[in-house]
Amino acid sequence: MRRRTFVACAFSALAGAKLFALAKKEGDSAPIGVPPGGEYDVLIAGGGTAGAIAAIQSARLGAKTLLVERSSQPGGTMTNAGVCHPGIFHAWGRQVIAGIGFDIVKKCADLNGDALPDFSKEPKRHWLHQIWLNPFLFAPLLEEEILSAGVHLLYGASVAGAKFDSGCWTAEIMPLCDRQSESYKTALSVRAKQLVDCTGNASVAASAGFERLCDGDIQPGTQIYRFSSYKLSDIDIPALDAAVKEAKKKGVLKRQDIVGGMRNFLNAGGFNQHHVLNARNACSGNLSETSARGRASMLRVLRFLKNFKGLENIKVSYLAPETGVRETFRIKGETVVSVDDYTSARVWPDSVCHCFYPVDLHYDHGVNPKPLERGKVPTVPLSALIPKGSENILVAGKCVSSDRLANSALRVQASCMAMGQAAGAAAALSARMNTSPGNLNFALLADALRANGAIVPQA
Ligand SMILES: Cc1cc2nc3c(=O)[nH]c(=O)nc-3n(C[C@H](O)[C@H](O)[C@H](O)COP(=O)(O)OP(=O)(O)OC[C@H]3O[C@@H](n4cnc5c(N)ncnc54)[C@H](O)[C@@H]3O)c2cc1C
Repeated sequence: MRRRTFVACAFSALAGAKLFALAKKEGDSAPIGVPPGGEYDVLIAGGGTAGAIAAIQSARLGAKTLLVERSSQPGGTMTNAGVCHPGIFHAWGRQVIAGIGFDIVKKCADLNGDALPDFSKEPKRHWLHQIWLNPFLFAPLLEEEILSAGVHLLYGASVAGAKFDSGCWTAEIMPLCDRQSESYKTALSVRAKQLVDCTGNASVAASAGFERLCDGDIQPGTQIYRFSSYKLSDIDIPALDAAVKEAKKKGVLKRQDIVGGMRNFLNAGGFNQHHVLNARNACSGNLSETSARGRASMLRVLRFLKNFKGLENIKVSYLAPETGVRETFRIKGETVVSVDDYTSARVWPDSVCHCFYPVDLHYDHGVNPKPLERGKVPTVPLSALIPKGSENILVAGKCVSSDRLANSALRVQASCMAMGQAAGAAAALSARMNTSPGNLNFALLADALRANGAIVPQA
């Protein structure tokens, strides 16, 4: 490395320190909401399913870590979009994903008094092994872990762009702007040795010039809500099915307002039973439009159902703050995981974690998951988290480098958490050693992950 580069990026080098002995002590104070402008070892863009875990792991390995999240809580799709049932940590009678994400999931279930599924039994349907969490509890627990790890945390701000120069990232952060105060005026500049893009759409990597993949069609999104205050036994389901068909014909309901039959719909309280088309949420315009369309759909259905016998008292008991996105941009990485790699459970020399989920592409009219063959447990290589031709940057979460079908499985929450942990560890170690994640000694990374509870696939 050129001397100038080393000097520019050596702002918190920990030469000689024992690698895994740098965990923050419980109760260490962490700056919250401090306007950044300084220098960090690791900058994480997006504090969602993958990003929150990446930040915890990075800070636990002693890296000075800044987490920037555009909303006002961590958890991303799990909390802001209300999809709080991570799948899947177990396969074929054994645990295949563990570590920081699973520990917090378990903490949340324990505190809420929820029993976990019996993982020793193979479920009839894959989703029976998902863990249903209270989304109101998951966000504060995740936040507690972020802060106690010593992560510097900034909500209400977006990483708007990043540039790599002389071995360092300079990122532009757009905070909410209080015109009365001197502190937050315009975009803030932050420098970091390593950047981890966990935005769900690889927008920061794209701003730095790295190629993204996106197919013409994308899977529909969903605005999560829940209805309550009715008894299924009081409702004439065939008559209601007929009424829904008629209402769709007349335009009182739109085709995507209810996907599938009314027995399933009412059984689930309307939860995840409708679609919002073209939901990417990768720009303010689309986020505004899809969230407004999702809420309007809920209102149409509520008003329609209230007129039906047995549903006069129906109420909305939950509405997620934003529409959930199943598919948007993926990064083009050093490795692009194909559906064949996925379904054959290929183990790569640099596999950092497992993923266990059927290929699960949703269409306008529903979904037809394709289960994995018995005994197969796919894996994710580190090189699928590294944008092609890049230095000092990783992506984690649903924007992992993969083809569309592989991505329809890789995008689920347990694997996003595991990818987040792997990216956080790789970034922290690379910052420490002044190297790029692609050049990191893989055995060292695997040891660090295992020391932090993760399961690293064995070739
Ligand atoms: C309707 C629906 C149902 C699903 N069902 C399941 C299921 O049953 N089981 C399962 O396991 N998975 C399910 N999934 C998939 C899973 O929830 C998501 O794929 C996963 O949570 C994505 O995690 P992520 O970390 O990639 O992105 P997210 O969790 O979305 O996190 C991205 C974060 O980045 C932030 N952000 C974005 N841009 C910026 C920026 N420029 N600067 C700062 N912050 C930024 C966002 O606010 C967000 O918090 C479902 C998804 C949907 C939408």
